[in-house]
Amino acid sequence: MADCLFCKMVSGKIQPDIVYEDEDVLAFRDVNPQAPTHVLVIPKTHIATTNDLDADSAHLVGKCCLAARQVAIDEGIAERGYRMIMNCNPEAGQSVYHIHLHVLGGRPMNWPPG
Ligand code: AMP
Repeated sequence: MADCLFCKMVSGKIQPDIVYEDEDVLAFRDVNPQAPTHVLVIPKTHIATTNDLDADSAHLVGKCCLAARQVAIDEGIAERGYRMIMNCNPEAGQSVYHIHLHVLGGRPMNWPPG
């Protein structure tokens, strides 16, 4: 997707602060962090929202979770705890339409979220 911000990161047109990468996913620091650790994990394939997932692409969400697990270990927050969030569509606050898993940690989290 030529006009997708996160696809530009996958292609290298824009260079985020990458913390993890494999053949299927890319993880980089959020430009506007909401916690001491705030990393976004994306599939390299363009999928606009979680509503667009299907049986063929669902494994990519699992890959994102495994990458998040590795990021949490690397950041030293795996045992303390961390939160994983995927926002879908406007009421959930999705602003970039390429699915991404927020990995937040390094401070206590409140529930329910805002
Ligand atoms: P969401 O609101 O769930 O769609 O999350 C999109 C996230 O992307 C926000 O937390 C933004 O701060 C983050 N973001 C937007 N532009 C960039 C960028 N150039 N590099 C890193 N993170 C970004």
